[in-house]
Amino acid sequence: MAVDERSPICMPPNDHSAQLKESPAILGFAVLQDLLNLARVNSLWPMTFGIACCSIEMMAAGMARFDLDRFGIIFRSTPRQSDVMIVAGTISHKFVPTIKTLWEQMPGPKWVIAMGNCAISGGPFAYEGQYAIVNGADKILPVDIYVPGCPPRPEGLIQGLLQLQKKITKGTIDANRRAEKAARRAKK
Ligand code: SF4
Repeated sequence: MAVDERSPICMPPNDHSAQLKESPAILGFAVLQDLLNLARVNSLWPMTFGIACCSIEMMAAGMARFDLDRFGIIFRSTPRQSDVMIVAGTISHKFVPTIKTLWEQMPGPKWVIAMGNCAISGGPFAYEGQYAIVNGADKILPVDIYVPGCPPRPEGLIQGLLQLQKKITKGTIDANRRAEKAARRAKK
């Protein structure tokens, strides 16, 4: 299962050499950031949180056959100990306040994976005139990785998690979020 091409995973690696020339102190922080990111990617803790049929595949990914534990990826039962939200299923408008509350309860840095066509774009429920379903998790959350399929298989989710690890170690997510924040500030 290929990960959706909208995931900007082909970013160049971090280049800290220019920062070194400008200020050794900045380099110190950059290396520390790389070390922290390395620790983070080897201990991603997704929240135990499923909305619809895709979450059955998410559960399978955590079970013995696919065994996410071997990557240090361990599901937690509370948002306060989680740093990854896997949106696995159809998002109804009624459920949006709950999703936002859970997201806000997660400590940062934190990431979002949209798993399945419903979480990416509304899936089979995105048709003209429908009024109950949100057409994609990115309407309410800053999605980092898209895993397509209806449903995606556990291998697809694992691939998505591995891509998320790559993005975190390359620092592209931090850079994207900083750019988004700057753009929001500029609009105000
Ligand atoms: S993408 Fe398909 S399998 Fe996943 S929640 Fe939607 S309808 Fe169910």
